[in-house]
Amino acid sequence: MNIVWFKRDLRLSDHAPLKAAIEDGESFLMLYIWEPSVMADPHYSPRHWNFVQQSLDDLNSQLSAGNALLSITVLEGDAEAVFTAIHKKYQLKKVFSYEETGLKITYDRDKILTKYFKENNIEWREFQTNGIVRKLKNRENWSELWKTHMHQKIDEPDWTKLRNPCLVFDEENEIYKQFLPKKYYLNNDKEPKPIFQPGGETYAHRYLQSFLNDRAKNYSKTISKPLEARKSCSRLSPYIAWGNLSIRQVYQYTQNAKKRVSYRRDLENFSSRLHWHCHFIQKFEMEDRMEFENINRGYDNLQKDEKQHFIEQWQAGKTGYPLVDACMRCVCETGYLNFRMRAMVVSFLTHQLFQHWKEGAVFLAQQFLDFEPGIHYPQFQMQAGVTGMNTVRMYNPVKQSQDHDPHGIFIKTWVKELENCPENFIHEPWKMTPMEQDLYNFRLGENYPFPIIDLEQTTKFAKDKLWGIRKNIEVKAESKRILSKHVVHRKKKK
Ligand SMILES: Cc1cc2nc3c(=O)[nH]c(=O)nc-3n(C[C@H](O)[C@H](O)[C@H](O)COP(=O)(O)OP(=O)(O)OC[C@H]3O[C@@H](n4cnc5c(N)ncnc54)[C@H](O)[C@@H]3O)c2cc1C
Repeated sequence: MNIVWFKRDLRLSDHAPLKAAIEDGESFLMLYIWEPSVMADPHYSPRHWNFVQQSLDDLNSQLSAGNALLSITVLEGDAEAVFTAIHKKYQLKKVFSYEETGLKITYDRDKILTKYFKENNIEWREFQTNGIVRKLKNRENWSELWKTHMHQKIDEPDWTKLRNPCLVFDEENEIYKQFLPKKYYLNNDKEPKPIFQPGGETYAHRYLQSFLNDRAKNYSKTISKPLEARKSCSRLSPYIAWGNLSIRQVYQYTQNAKKRVSYRRDLENFSSRLHWHCHFIQKFEMEDRMEFENINRGYDNLQKDEKQHFIEQWQAGKTGYPLVDACMRCVCETGYLNFRMRAMVVSFLTHQLFQHWKEGAVFLAQQFLDFEPGIHYPQFQMQAGVTGMNTVRMYNPVKQSQDHDPHGIFIKTWVKELENCPENFIHEPWKMTPMEQDLYNFRLGENYPFPIIDLEQTTKFAKDKLWGIRKNIEVKAESKRILSKHVVHRKKKK
């Protein structure tokens, strides 16, 4: 028998492994494995597995609607142990799956499986994911390859070509009993109730359609606004990260929508981000040590004293800077922040609080429903200013707040202590005199913290340090290396 192994590609359409397994003709099992070691990785949290559970439920209800005998078998256990048990009983011939650019934990698991499959003459057919190319040395032709991939025909599995019935392990199956899966829904009795986007291919298409047909018209205008962006950005990120949609599907639907809407430019801006998505993952694919180390080794010389209380105040949204606090509380509750606000909270942590990016990166990975290692780490390091080749952006949270949440509506939604704070103080509540505080029934230091740092001083300190280290010869040499590996060099005209 064969297996189609679903990983972070939880959809039925544009699914090359599924299409190939049907065309192969042999009976196959559609399999998802809950892997305890992956689930225990600190980057993940129950909200992710809830999303996966919902995605699996959605796949199974789609499958059974088409054919009552079709469903994905879900098992729980170490992937090698699961494949070993299946092979022993059923003589496995081929495994079809997508390539995964992931954390070290899944990379190591894939290396173990490569060896196991090879030793047991099992063919592992892996398919390219979203135009990410394996074993690439530099970026010379990558963009062209990506474009070609995006324009190729969608890999639509043709169920009418199914020659043998699909296999399903029911509850009586020995292997099912050995690797008995649990259900991973969130405990929704908790107060306050989490407000996460629901997982699944069906919802993914609804979000895509509502964005292309309507929500996108304000995309460019409000992309940086913490409140408005929640509606006018696509919100497709978790669906793409967990593979409810392929980038190619989103790209092609967008190209078509461009022909019929008046907000073409908004869709062009959006489309360029689909390219960024893959650009960052390609970077991580080619340099995955970014999960643990500065991409530019020269920045290992930048000493930062760990201040645990700063990290905790940042995580809890209690820094005394209203927009930072609103963002941190919002992402913990909802799993989402728009790009600008993600960049700002990382900038605040790594520059103004002057903390290493590592702990913050893991914490935010747990919060982001769309956690995608290949975007998260390169973005985190870029915002932390340790690449040596990008412009370092130090966001001023007061200015960001005045520009992007001028009436403090987003702040007041998430920082309830500031609910009665008048608009002229909402960005800098510490400017209220004790008398004004009495007037609004509010005490700084009691209801809401004083700022934990002096913004002007810490920004200057961080700028001096970062600008200073840029001159370091190791930083410069590393920047050159990074440029030649990850950036396309325009050919000089003769
Ligand atoms: C520190 C930091 C960490 C991040 N971590 C993640 C992550 O773990 N997962 C993730 O999907 N995005 C991450 N991003 C990128 C970006 O913030 C999100 O993709 C975006 O906010 C998701 O919202 P959306 O789907 O409404 O985006 P839209 O603006 O509608 O964009 C559409 C899609 O394009 C891609 N995209 C958009 N912006 C970027 C970007 N700057 N870089 C790469 N791809 C982009 C995403 O797949 C997104 O779903 C991170 C950004 C920062 C600054």
